Amino acid sequence: MAGILSKDLPDIESILALNPRVKSHTALHSTAAKQAEKKHWKRNPEKGCNTCVKLENNFDDIKHTTLSERGALREALRCLKCADAPCQKSCPTNLDIKAFITSIANKNYYGAARAIFSDNPLGLTCGMVCPTSDLCVGGCNLYASEEGPINIGGLQQFATEVFSKMGIPQVRNPALPCQDQMPESYHSKIALIGCGPASVSCASFLARLGYDDITIFEKQKYIGGLSSAEIPQFRLPYEVVQFEVDLMKDLGVKTVCEKGLGQDGMTLLSLKEEGYKAVFVGIASELPQ
Ligand SMILES: Cc1cc2nc3c(=O)[nH]c(=O)nc-3n(C[C@H](O)[C@H](O)[C@H](O)COP(=O)(O)OP(=O)(O)OC[C@H]3O[C@@H](n4cnc5c(N)ncnc54)[C@H](O)[C@@H]3O)c2cc1C
Ligand code: SF4
Repeated sequence: MAGILSKDLPDIESILALNPRVKSHTALHSTAAKQAEKKHWKRNPEKGCNTCVKLENNFDDIKHTTLSERGALREALRCLKCADAPCQKSCPTNLDIKAFITSIANKNYYGAARAIFSDNPLGLTCGMVCPTSDLCVGGCNLYASEEGPINIGGLQQFATEVFSKMGIPQVRNPALPCQDQMPESYHSKIALIGCGPASVSCASFLARLGYDDITIFEKQKYIGGLSSAEIPQFRLPYEVVQFEVDLMKDLGVKTVCEKGLGQDGMTLLSLKEEGYKAVFVGIASELPQ
């Protein structure tokens, strides 16, 4: 009998603790650990498994993301705010989902967006295109209920879209010492190669930590990587990519287009010679994963 009972993972005590949630650093979770955790909580069939229903001419899986304010409030009130929150455990960016849903339920859309963007600088993009049915929604405790799991992607898109219309810039963490009082290493030159989601996220977190000389080099004429080049506009409009890049730029991150690794003699060595102390290579893979 004990074998068929679901077991809480060891972090349940910290989940139940009443911790203030302002974090100074991003949470680190390895992809492998997250994938194992997601499998543990999954309530619908795993994507790509043999038992999955064929989706040819079957659009059941298409998520209904766009919510009006009324729809969002109704959906937010349905959320159980579960202590174990399998939705969060199944999210690759570890978003505090029940926290932002609670803010939406209280009509605190700014607070919801703040919680989302603090965990994930690409919060609006992910609200629009993240394959949620395989991730957070796939683990939601309401999966078997009559009304189904919570439309988490829709709520995320709703809150971050409302925020994007507020025109509020991202500001440097006021708890940090002034820029000229930061240790020398925080003024080091940092290069990020490729201006796709990986570099935008990495640069945002570095800038939030207080690093103030960050440059992204992009070989194309445009920024955003596959979000701009491949994902259709009706799924992810270019303005959304630009909005998140602008939030990153609010913190002083610079972008340079038409300049990339292997172009015009740029190599890791040449970057080192130019004084760059750290390089993040975010050029993705040419091959499908
Ligand atoms: C058709 C398609 C549809 C997709 N749809 C979805 C979806 O609906 N939902 C979802 O979640 N994900 C989707 N994805 C996946 C998503 O786009 C990728 O996971 C994401 O873009 C990866 O981000 P990245 O920053 O690692 O790489 P990329 O987005 O590939 O960015 C890499 C950047 O590096 C630049 N670069 C490459 N070489 C160099 C160099 N030598 N020097 C300088 N710059 C360089 C590239 O020009 C590019 O801008 C889709 C992908 C494709 C192809
Ligand atoms: S599992 Fe579903 S119901 Fe529970 S907190 Fe997450 S979204 Fe809300």
